[in-house]
Amino acid sequence: MLHEQARRAVVHTCQEMQGQGLVVGTAGNVSVRLGDLVVISPSGVAYEELTPEMVGVHDMSGAPVEASLKPSSELPLHLAVYRGTDAGAITHNHAPASTAVGLVCDEVPVSHYYSSMFNGPIRVAPYAHFGTDELAKNVCTALEGRHGALMANHGAVTVGATLDKAFGLLPYLEYVCEVQLKAMATGAPVKLLTQEQVSYTVEALKGYGQPKQ
Ligand SMILES: [Zn+2]
Repeated sequence: MLHEQARRAVVHTCQEMQGQGLVVGTAGNVSVRLGDLVVISPSGVAYEELTPEMVGVHDMSGAPVEASLKPSSELPLHLAVYRGTDAGAITHNHAPASTAVGLVCDEVPVSHYYSSMFNGPIRVAPYAHFGTDELAKNVCTALEGRHGALMANHGAVTVGATLDKAFGLLPYLEYVCEVQLKAMATGAPVKLLTQEQVSYTVEALKGYGQPKQ
């Protein structure tokens, strides 16, 4: 993927994120890794005004390579995840259910089978101030072996091999969190899946959909 394609994809994803009600205001950010470079949404630009030219390209130390605006304040988080995993893209948002469940749980247990999309219970990274290396470290730990994590008192993050994969998980993460919250709100015990059921679904979801032609 070329820089220009990646910049357009970042803009498109940011606007989709907003269109689906997964962010508030200018919150959230999106990035794609291209080898030793990271293409990331800028800080504090209204999504409806965002253009590919405003999306910056940075090296793995965070230094601008081609950037007219300040990058997202969570650039350290994105860089830390790319250094520590083989993720090709990251999406981060502030949506109500995932943020709320992060206020009352240390992890989202595997209640709905969609949790298998994230490879198991979704961990909640302990709170640290936004934009800090401490937050980046906490999120990296919460993401170990997972495709998504929650950030206490803050929001959620998903990762994937491609931007489509990372962003594709974000609405499911919000859904799983919303279902969990509603179930917990009844006060009745929440039925959880067994490890065997989760393992089965992880494998079954790999083959889900139409076979490739
Ligand atoms: Zn945030």
